[in-house]
Amino acid sequence: MNFRRPITAILFQNIVVKVRSFSSTTSSTTSATKSKAFLPKYYDDIPLAKKAMGYIDASPDPFHAVQSSIDMFLKPAGFQEIQDDCNFQDCVKPAGKYYFTRNKSTIVAFAVGKRYQQGNGFKIIGGHTDSPNVKVKTRSKKRSSATGCIQLSVECYGGGLWHTWFDRDLGISGRALVRNADTGKIDQKLIKIDRPIVRISNLAIHLQSPKQREAFQINKEDHLSPILAMEAEKALTTGKNNDGTDANASTNNDKDGWVEHQEPLLLDLIASELNMQSKSSIVDFELNLFDMQKSSLGGMQSEFIHSSRLDNLASCFLALEALVQHCTIPATTANNNETSLLIDEDDSISMIALFDHEEIGSSSATGAGSPIISEAVKRISSALMTANNSNDSNFMEDMYGITLQNSFVVSSDQAHAIHPNYSSKHESGHAPRMNEGMVIKRNSNQRYATNGITGFIIREIAKKAKLNKPVQEFMVRNDCACGSTIGPIMSANTGMRAIDLGCPQLSMHSIRETMGVADLTHGLALFQGFFKYFQEVDSSINKE
Ligand SMILES: [Zn+2]
Repeated sequence: MNFRRPITAILFQNIVVKVRSFSSTTSSTTSATKSKAFLPKYYDDIPLAKKAMGYIDASPDPFHAVQSSIDMFLKPAGFQEIQDDCNFQDCVKPAGKYYFTRNKSTIVAFAVGKRYQQGNGFKIIGGHTDSPNVKVKTRSKKRSSATGCIQLSVECYGGGLWHTWFDRDLGISGRALVRNADTGKIDQKLIKIDRPIVRISNLAIHLQSPKQREAFQINKEDHLSPILAMEAEKALTTGKNNDGTDANASTNNDKDGWVEHQEPLLLDLIASELNMQSKSSIVDFELNLFDMQKSSLGGMQSEFIHSSRLDNLASCFLALEALVQHCTIPATTANNNETSLLIDEDDSISMIALFDHEEIGSSSATGAGSPIISEAVKRISSALMTANNSNDSNFMEDMYGITLQNSFVVSSDQAHAIHPNYSSKHESGHAPRMNEGMVIKRNSNQRYATNGITGFIIREIAKKAKLNKPVQEFMVRNDCACGSTIGPIMSANTGMRAIDLGCPQLSMHSIRETMGVADLTHGLALFQGFFKYFQEVDSSINKE
């Protein structure tokens, strides 16, 4: 069939070529400089966007998000791990950079300013490592002898747009607990089966009634179970019976109420992924499904990122990047011509806290509702106490109160951009757009923690950091329920001032979400500005 190639296709090809040439020839500046005037509008945003995409792709669940944060950001920047049983007094020092984890699904990292003084505040950027997903149930086995399919039993975590999980290439990831044959101890192992091992299939349109098609509804128990294999395949793999009884039946000695209820093929997969001799060493797991499709740049000018888990790994990425840059970027050149870093001139503490369990309300030992931050602030500030009366508990309590009052939480979570097909869902005065910058969220009913002072502080920081665009504002329509996030929870738990903000995006809680590349650039500049200018802006506010 003959057809004329549309002009948009030709334009698009040019853009792709230029973007590609940037990634492969970042050092060849001659041609890049010459053609700069003709580059796509978002050309400068692409490298940061690609870095974020790499982080998100490597982090299909909270355990991997924590590990990626350590491997890709904190370790290369020289952050030291503080073990759970460590005495903070022994290890936390001015100019030091540290991190610790909880349950390996929540991570806190902080850098102590070289000029830190007792009573000075904590500048905290909070985010969350979890996203709505489909998790494998405690008893994973789900037999379907009538259909010949081997499925997995699953549950829904958080409030996902579950219909988007159908007909996707799904991998399995998470954590397995494995008995170490040498030590007898239980090791925690990360698992990432990075191939389309399971699938949740749609029902053919021909088999749906008009009412069902219109409703576009699913039953979360009946319709979400993914198919792992066919029975015939199971027989081939295991060489055991195929008659509906357990092909890999455990002996009575092996039974512990858990292992005999697991799908043997799933245990085989985990064992092979971990190069284990025997699957009998696997004693438990926490697994979820994830979309195999990597994140991508989209739109006419590569102005969008399409990806899973933008809510809220985009925030985690920005927080990590900002903290690392605060510790590595030069501030000024000192008199002796030695370069001074931003952290060298900082008299407070810069911290990021990336929590698990936000999507289910944050009330857990690892969520933002836990004592993790209040305990950390107490332990870190008392470890840095220099006064002679640091043994006086009343004095310590007083200093802790002062520290909290001098501290500030930026709770970063993705925001709702206005959707062109559903524009009436936004109130027109508070309708953020993608690629127009970070969004401050406000709600007088305290679904968000922002108030006049905290909103002003961030706008003022944005000015000092010379952001190319002012921050945007979001308030929900009066006839619409308002979401919430970790800001009010952290604020209520610690007594710290807080603001809720985030990058605008579409399709929140879909398996594939969309955000603007320029908003990452804007968000990073704002977070860097927060670590750099907070004290200065805060001290300009009359507290009387
Ligand atoms: Zn979120």
